[in-house]
Amino acid sequence: MIFETHAHYDDEKFDPDRVELLSHLLRENNIGKIVNVGATFKGCKESIALAEKYDDVYAAIGIHPEEIDEINDEVIEWLRQNSSNPKVVAIGEIGLDYYWVKEEEQRAKQRLWFNKQMDLAKELEMPVIIHSRDAAEDTLNTIKLYNNSHVKGIVHCYSYSKEIAMEYVKMGWYIGVGGVVTFKNAKKLVETVEAVPLESIVLETDCPYMAPVPHRGERNSSIFLSHVAEKIAEIKNISVAEVENVTYQNALNIYKKANR
Ligand SMILES: [Zn+2]
Repeated sequence: MIFETHAHYDDEKFDPDRVELLSHLLRENNIGKIVNVGATFKGCKESIALAEKYDDVYAAIGIHPEEIDEINDEVIEWLRQNSSNPKVVAIGEIGLDYYWVKEEEQRAKQRLWFNKQMDLAKELEMPVIIHSRDAAEDTLNTIKLYNNSHVKGIVHCYSYSKEIAMEYVKMGWYIGVGGVVTFKNAKKLVETVEAVPLESIVLETDCPYMAPVPHRGERNSSIFLSHVAEKIAEIKNISVAEVENVTYQNALNIYKKANR
């Protein structure tokens, strides 16, 4: 079975078939557990609602760097209170995204709220899910600052070099690998998957986005994770079953509350 570590089933693209997918279709297609990740405040509330409705679904709650205009201390307090929900397994997705944001002032604001949410994870002793785009150095520097306080997590939709990946691995972090690994131009990610031990990789879709080949461009769902598992097996020259089993255990190791 596959552990889907990063999905957005609250997205409106799932309105037509969300119930079928989460109530039985995913399970019938070899998907064991699913973490639905909040990015907006609304998405966090919807993630908790899905987790409370479906046994196999868990929630992560946090505010995405592109959504920080809606964050304030009251939202942080809401995150603190709701993280005690037994089905909330992580703080995320949080981080830095400099791809669209060029102004230093807005980037500084992203760093401020990234740090505040890291502080929260530290206080609550919860893992985090990191979104990081075009911000390799600032992200790694922040994570290193929290290494002594044992804040661990997943670098989701990993897009940097294998060298940086190994820095995370050395700190006990996990590298999130999804549909991109199947793309023709995925040379860097393929090298990362080669370099990183399987014990430090988790499977994720980021659905409805990032569908793997041969479904590239379509709406993604966790069902397509079989293609990601096959590609990793091919790169590492091991069986698909090994990829599924080890990454499943990895996900349970980081999302400890999903063990129950
Ligand atoms: Zn996401």
